[in-house]
Amino acid sequence: MKKETFVTLEQLKEITKEYPTPFHLYDEKGIRENVKRLKEAFSWNKGFKEYFAVKATPNPYLINILKEYGCGCDCSSMTELMMAQALGFKGEDIMFSSNATPAEEFVYAREMDAVINLDDFTHIDFLEKTAGIPETISCRFNPGGLFKISTDIMDNPGDAKYGFTKEQLFEGFKILKSKGVKNFGIHAFLASNTVTNEYYPTLAKILFETAVEIEKETGADIKFINLSGGIGIPYRPEQEPNDIYAIGEGVRKAFEEILVPAGMGDIAIYTELGRFMMGPYGCLVTTAVHEKHIYKEYIGCDASAVNLMRPAMYGAYHHITVMGKENEPCDHKYDITGSLCENNDKFAIDRMLPKIDMGDLLVIHDTGAHGFAMGYNYNGKLKSAEILLKEDGTTQLIRRAETPKDYFATFDFSDILSKIEY
Ligand SMILES: *Cc1c(COP(=O)(O)O)cnc(C)c1O
Repeated sequence: MKKETFVTLEQLKEITKEYPTPFHLYDEKGIRENVKRLKEAFSWNKGFKEYFAVKATPNPYLINILKEYGCGCDCSSMTELMMAQALGFKGEDIMFSSNATPAEEFVYAREMDAVINLDDFTHIDFLEKTAGIPETISCRFNPGGLFKISTDIMDNPGDAKYGFTKEQLFEGFKILKSKGVKNFGIHAFLASNTVTNEYYPTLAKILFETAVEIEKETGADIKFINLSGGIGIPYRPEQEPNDIYAIGEGVRKAFEEILVPAGMGDIAIYTELGRFMMGPYGCLVTTAVHEKHIYKEYIGCDASAVNLMRPAMYGAYHHITVMGKENEPCDHKYDITGSLCENNDKFAIDRMLPKIDMGDLLVIHDTGAHGFAMGYNYNGKLKSAEILLKEDGTTQLIRRAETPKDYFATFDFSDILSKIEY
């Protein structure tokens, strides 16, 4: 499928008059339509709730849009909990799914009455000693081995640091019950960025069967099953996007087949989607500022891996549109690079694109999740602004760009820094 941008060249020309590139741009209309579809797809489940994975796009303005649709927050750290609290999320609107969790984060999560999703068997003891055991708790399950959908290997849970083994899960539920827990949840995240409608239904089946077994054996009252994140997006043009209605229907079937006959038809389904909620509805806008002709052809941009790390970190594909040249032939082979002193600072390698001229605006697609958020400050590069393209076509600055002052803010050498002019 041809990958279209959600913004036009004319709009970008206007936006760049006010805000210099690079910046991340978000599509309010796309975000809203997508969350509505998700809710509809799972409307068969009375307790359904999406806890947006804050780490994917930790911007309060964007999270507030999702909040309008009843989404909660899935937090994994102190600052994410703080952000959720500042936005007015309370108690059961917050899922705290973290691992190797510091004691003070458990304490803080307990103070907020967030739902804690324990990552490990030993955390039962740790939580009891540091923050106390709440009435509602969830445990993360790791079935080990390879996670397959028919014969395709999707991921390798046996090699992942997360979750309880099956034996630990059963034992853990017994212990937690004896310590006064009344409401239980089960959580698992077995494959990332899946582009198949089968992932959630396959995962659901595993979790539903496990839930039936656990209830039988331990008597624990399971109130919710958290399918977590992992629904992917088509980064590549040739990929078929997921159909969220087919996914919702697949989970419903498993629910009807496994939970309903076991008398567990009142279980709520939770999700903790990040990428699926925001990924396609953000892009990184950058300007081509240099061209270089050595052994290969290079285009140097004003954005770098500081703004988007996925290509450098995972070799991830992000589609690139040269704005205004959408219909020109892709007859030039380029490496599209940033300016870091790191040879992996490339948004694309050997990419066939139309001829790029200096000053051309490039849109790097699908940066709405795990994009800005993964950024860092290597080479002393500053993080960009985030801008919301609103439904009415106007824009709102939802995070200003960093300034040198931000970069230097953690030095406490005021006598030295006073000599620097910003
Ligand atoms: C990262 C993460 C998510 C979100 O994952 P996506 O792939 O963005 O959907 C959800 N839950 C947990 C616990 C995570 O670590």
